[in-house]
Amino acid sequence: MKKINTYGKYLKKKFKTKVSKIPLGISGFTCPNIDGTVAKGGCTFCLNDSFSPNLSKNSHKIFLNLQSKSNPILEQQLIELENQILQTRENMRDNWQSKKFLVYFQSFTNTYAPVETLKALYEKALSYDDVIGLSIGTRSDCVNDEILDYLVELSKTKEIWIEYGIQSIYDDTLKKINRGHDSLNVEKAIKEAKAKGLFVCGHLIFGLPDENQEMMLESAKKAYEWGIDSIKYHPLYVVKNTLLANDYKSGEFMPITKEDYIDTLIKAIKLKPDNISIQRVTAGIDDDTLLAPLWCGLPKNEMLRYINKELNKEGFDSI
Ligand code: SF4
Repeated sequence: MKKINTYGKYLKKKFKTKVSKIPLGISGFTCPNIDGTVAKGGCTFCLNDSFSPNLSKNSHKIFLNLQSKSNPILEQQLIELENQILQTRENMRDNWQSKKFLVYFQSFTNTYAPVETLKALYEKALSYDDVIGLSIGTRSDCVNDEILDYLVELSKTKEIWIEYGIQSIYDDTLKKINRGHDSLNVEKAIKEAKAKGLFVCGHLIFGLPDENQEMMLESAKKAYEWGIDSIKYHPLYVVKNTLLANDYKSGEFMPITKEDYIDTLIKAIKLKPDNISIQRVTAGIDDDTLLAPLWCGLPKNEMLRYINKELNKEGFDSI
């Protein structure tokens, strides 16, 4: 059986112990595609404060003004960060016997703030002895030399990753989902981060509006060629109160089927160079905000069983 290079295996080999990612959702971060800087409303599939009264529309603008640790709002962010790290670390130690941790700035756009603010948050996350590094989820239009050079400095002693949403290489598709940047912007950002020696993870979505399998696989091939070190594959699913939900209800958008998703995924994995590790092979949501496709509400283990069955048929080990 051919072995699959997963991110977990990569981390274990490098750090010689079990390393887990601690996902963070720090309030105050938002996205230039939501607050009107690039566009309003965000990506059509994104549930954000355009729709949710629970998220403050002004929180980001307040946050952007934070320049020092003496600011009470940043103090609050640091407390949230600490609470989330301590709680998740405890659970991961108990349930998965994890020994080391990589802190993942996951929600919204985690480089969209003044560098001094980012430094305060990133350095707090790195202050724990068993945290070996960071993974920072962001948009390709939200990085600059100052941020990249700072991350390069950190990477001299820590494991530093940037995660960019590629989604698709087709600009027509990116326009349809109101992505707010084109494919060239992502390509340049990936190549720039790689040229500076940073690790890059790319996110791809299968099942985007009007895309066929050939297009999805072409996006995967290009992402591999651009030099990413790791990849996350996601199906596009529709949650309530999003622009995509309107398109789904009007019949304009048809979600990808489970069979087509898995078939595309296996083909994308077969095209992938071995050195690129896999971080994610599916995504879903297990609450009543999911509108479609309903298979995205299946438990993760059940989806993995379907995927592994097809991988095994193609001569691959299970993930
Ligand atoms: S870039 Fe991310 S956070 Fe911003 S609108 Fe799109 S999905 Fe939402």
